[in-house]
Amino acid sequence: MSEKVEEVPEEEKKIEKAEKPAKKKKKEKGIFSLYKVEKDKIVRLRPTCERCGPGYFMADHGDRYTCGRCGFTRYKLAEK
Ligand SMILES: [Zn+2]
Repeated sequence: MSEKVEEVPEEEKKIEKAEKPAKKKKKEKGIFSLYKVEKDKIVRLRPTCERCGPGYFMADHGDRYTCGRCGFTRYKLAEK
């Protein structure tokens, strides 16, 4: 009496398709993207340069802001 040995085929290495949800960051350039109008008030979306004063926005570089005028760089505080 021979035992039935089920041959288990080697599982092919399935390459998991790790599809990361594409983060679509809206990168709008222009002065209009700096402000956001909420009802009756204007909200500034970008920080202003501490050196140059209000009116000089700092560019968003992901983890930091930089002033295009004086080159002042301010790192964002990692809040997680
Ligand atoms: Zn500046």
